[in-house]
Amino acid sequence: MKLNKTKGSIKYKPRIEIPPIATIKTEWDLASLYYRNDRDKKIEEDIEKAEAMIRRFVKKWKKTSFTSDAHLLQLALTEYEALSAEPAISRPTRYYWLRSCLDVNDTKAEQQLALLARRLRKVKDELLFFVLQIGALTPKEQKVLLKDRSLSQFHYHLTRIFRSSRHNLTEIEEKIINLKSPQSYSMWLNMTEKIISNRSIVWNDQEFKIPEAIEQLNVVEFDEKELLWDTIRVELQQIGEVAEHEFNAIVTDAHVENEQRSYKKPYSATVIAYEDSEENLESLIDVVSRQGFAISRQFYKTKAAIHNTNTLRYSERNAHIGDSVEIPWEEALLICRDVFYNLSSEYGSIFDAMLQNGQIDVFPRKGKQGGAFMSDQTGHPVHVMLNYTPTFSSLETLAHEMGHAIHATRSSQQRSFYDGHSTITAETASTLFENFVFDAVYEQASEMQKFYLLHDRLVRDISTIQRQVAFFNLELAIHNYIISNGAITNEQLRKMTINELRRYLGPAVTLHPNDGYSYVYIGHLRYGFYVYTYTFGLLMSSIMARQYKRDKSFIHSIDNFLSLGASASVTDIFKTVGIQTSNKDTFIDALDTHKKEVIDFTRLAKKISL
Ligand SMILES: [Zn+2]
Repeated sequence: MKLNKTKGSIKYKPRIEIPPIATIKTEWDLASLYYRNDRDKKIEEDIEKAEAMIRRFVKKWKKTSFTSDAHLLQLALTEYEALSAEPAISRPTRYYWLRSCLDVNDTKAEQQLALLARRLRKVKDELLFFVLQIGALTPKEQKVLLKDRSLSQFHYHLTRIFRSSRHNLTEIEEKIINLKSPQSYSMWLNMTEKIISNRSIVWNDQEFKIPEAIEQLNVVEFDEKELLWDTIRVELQQIGEVAEHEFNAIVTDAHVENEQRSYKKPYSATVIAYEDSEENLESLIDVVSRQGFAISRQFYKTKAAIHNTNTLRYSERNAHIGDSVEIPWEEALLICRDVFYNLSSEYGSIFDAMLQNGQIDVFPRKGKQGGAFMSDQTGHPVHVMLNYTPTFSSLETLAHEMGHAIHATRSSQQRSFYDGHSTITAETASTLFENFVFDAVYEQASEMQKFYLLHDRLVRDISTIQRQVAFFNLELAIHNYIISNGAITNEQLRKMTINELRRYLGPAVTLHPNDGYSYVYIGHLRYGFYVYTYTFGLLMSSIMARQYKRDKSFIHSIDNFLSLGASASVTDIFKTVGIQTSNKDTFIDALDTHKKEVIDFTRLAKKISL
């Protein structure tokens, strides 16, 4: 197919009259929101206040049998909740952490963070007794307390403690596990990460560190991709010689701890942490591995034809087609304000306030951390960090992070025990707002732009739905292999990676045996099965976006969903928008929307090539 190479702009026209906005800040204003600078006396005042508050709490409750009666427990929980919501405890750390994101070379911030962690760890460890003592109640005592009306406001909070307490160890054992955790887990990850980021390859007489070289894969011409990828694979194969030890160590460590805590399956602890159930997770994995993989295989078949070939190489699977749509920051601002105000004036105002208060750091700068995120914490302003470039994907990132920010702001009405979120509901909120923005732009795009937009969206969706589930399956296979065989080798890891990649990519993507070494740089495989939360969130948001398209009054249910925070389990929160996550058909239904988009894309491809 011959593809048009002209840069496209959308010239977006707002659909409603948007209220005017005064001057906005495109950098975080930490001086107004936190401290003037690191010499600000308020920093030490906050730390001392925090230490005193925690000590007072420990002194008051540690020797009391506060779980013996509902009234006493209610009192203790109320104070504990107030303590965990106290901004002074987290403000200094948050300030320095935000500073270190703006400048990775801010040594002062790094040092202060390390000192603060050491100083606060001492007092925070003193608090471990509280949750452990509640968790130590017998099932019968738990039942009695859960029925007590004076504790009704803490019902879900207690349920969560009771659920995870079945897997608690003693206070001293918990302390030892905390102390030994860096050297049995994160230091191994840091090792591989550091080797990867220090190794380099030479490409066109230029030196690239491996992470940069992987980025370059998206940039170089189609015909050059395999050659570049081959030089990267050679390095990955060598790093695999240490990565195999990393996997043996962290998987064995997880397995030993799971046994001590009586977790039955490798992912049992993960499911509890995300306030989800094993049944939900298993049906999601099953449905995506069957129906979902059939969709991604179809997509790659169509994509290969667009590139005038029968099969694509692994390194070519995400190759751009045509040219991307250009979105300058001013237009992104206009689009998002239009979309948010259109949904609800509340969402528009949240965005405007964040822009005016300096809570969004927009552009890339020297020393600034890469990527994008939203950060919220009880009692503090919400922050969004971006590295905005005038591309459609930057617009999507803005929409995604603002989805998180709006979710966090709406949920902050909850009491502080419940003003957080599970990653599953958070990723639903963020991808939902991505959907809203996509739909608004798509409507105004030309046919050719629609084709490119849909292509890029499908590439992104497949890397969130099918690819993450492939990683989940791979991680599980690695765990099971090490548990039954005692250890795994680089060669075995390579083979298993190839198998899982083949399942979701299908026959239209040919795999070179060494593509299997990509396991070395896939960080997600080390994060304890958390990858599935992204798949879950994206599938659920596609159902919600579709429902909103049909019936605009659905926004009230969406707003209720966004306001629930972490006040109920994931299953119960989805029930409020009419989604039954324990029903397999829900996932099948969500994949249906995704499947229709692949069909639309295939149809557009045929039409345009005529
Ligand atoms: Zn996110």
